[in-house]
Amino acid sequence: MKIMAINAGSSSLKFQLLQMPSEDVITSGVFERIGLDDAVFTIKFNDQKQELKQPIKNHGVAVDLLLEGLIKLNIIKSLEDIKGVGHRIVQGGEIFKEAAIIDDKVVADIESLIPLAPLHNAAHVIGIRAFRKALPNVLQLAIFDTTFHQTMEEDAFLYATPYEWYTKYGIRKYGFHGTSHQYVSQVANKMLNNENAKLIVCHIGNGVSITAIDAGKSVDTSMGLTPLEGVPMGTRTGNIDPSMLSLIQEREGKSLQELLNILNKESGYLGVSGVSNDSRDIAKAAEEGNRRAQLAMILQAKRIADYIGSYYIRLRGLDAIVFTAGIGENSGEVRKMIIDYVKVLGVELDDKLNNTRGVTGNIATKNSKVKVFVIPTDEEVMLAREVYNKLKEVKKYES
Ligand code: AMP
Repeated sequence: MKIMAINAGSSSLKFQLLQMPSEDVITSGVFERIGLDDAVFTIKFNDQKQELKQPIKNHGVAVDLLLEGLIKLNIIKSLEDIKGVGHRIVQGGEIFKEAAIIDDKVVADIESLIPLAPLHNAAHVIGIRAFRKALPNVLQLAIFDTTFHQTMEEDAFLYATPYEWYTKYGIRKYGFHGTSHQYVSQVANKMLNNENAKLIVCHIGNGVSITAIDAGKSVDTSMGLTPLEGVPMGTRTGNIDPSMLSLIQEREGKSLQELLNILNKESGYLGVSGVSNDSRDIAKAAEEGNRRAQLAMILQAKRIADYIGSYYIRLRGLDAIVFTAGIGENSGEVRKMIIDYVKVLGVELDDKLNNTRGVTGNIATKNSKVKVFVIPTDEEVMLAREVYNKLKEVKKYES
């Protein structure tokens, strides 16, 4: 059966249609610049890529274009071929401990969490509405980035702020990239042939999060109330002393919202280096001797190493460090920098194996006390699996 995996952003919509249970990707693509006159619809299928530039007024128009396109391009015969849709939702708060079949109440609950993730959840709701309208009789499942981390204990997720902030407003650490952490940790446990393995998963892409996982459960993770917390990222600061905000507010006369925007969009690699938010540009500039680019890389690698050290203690041992996402999967240089800082744990990289890109495998030496895995993440497959399993569970929707 064919299942659609959807990731809707404020002006974008990524999709992937998968054949299940074989998990083969039938087609994938993205709508970008939704709402503008020069929106772009890119679709890949059968080793071909088509790009269409045209005004796309809103997400509803994008979804209609996508479904029409699938039929026109002979990718599906009719809309009935699509048996389920999985929507990636960034913030599930404490409401969602697992994936939820979308109905009016679930949409209202996702909307109620907008204050905790203003950009993301608002966009997801728009995407959900568009799909429910286009495919009213198809099972749609909301799959949350936060649910995997709902196993964190109170002493891991609470901030040392007034307790009422938690009880009244839900201020706590939620953690993100849950689907990715869950997917790669399942693959790692299989590679170790141990369901109870202790893992530290380093999801290093434009966003970065590090998670301590014990027997398949998230024990702690570096991102917090929002994805801003943790280690420096492409454009995000990671941890800072919040007192700096009042100082900059005074000196530059900026509002709190403007400052938060800078912490989210103009910091990290981009802010420190002044070069780019893309790791390839940073690595090139660093190699050419740009000190700020070198510093941007060092700041990130050192903080990731700090999390590995702290989570090693939290887990009381470690079977494998796992690298995933754009940088984690592809940059041997970044992996080496990080592992060099944590050598004291008895981890040893095999330099030759570390030179591989985007291939699943162990890149540690035979003598290394801790394995080092590279595992390409696949959030879409995780979404499709959840929908597939739910469809099997819910008889009413069975094909
Ligand atoms: P993601 O957010 O997972 O898509 O990752 C985006 C980051 O991965 C960007 O900083 C890219 O520069 C980086 N990236 C993607 N491909 C490569 C590659 N082949 N080598 C190094 N970095 C890469």
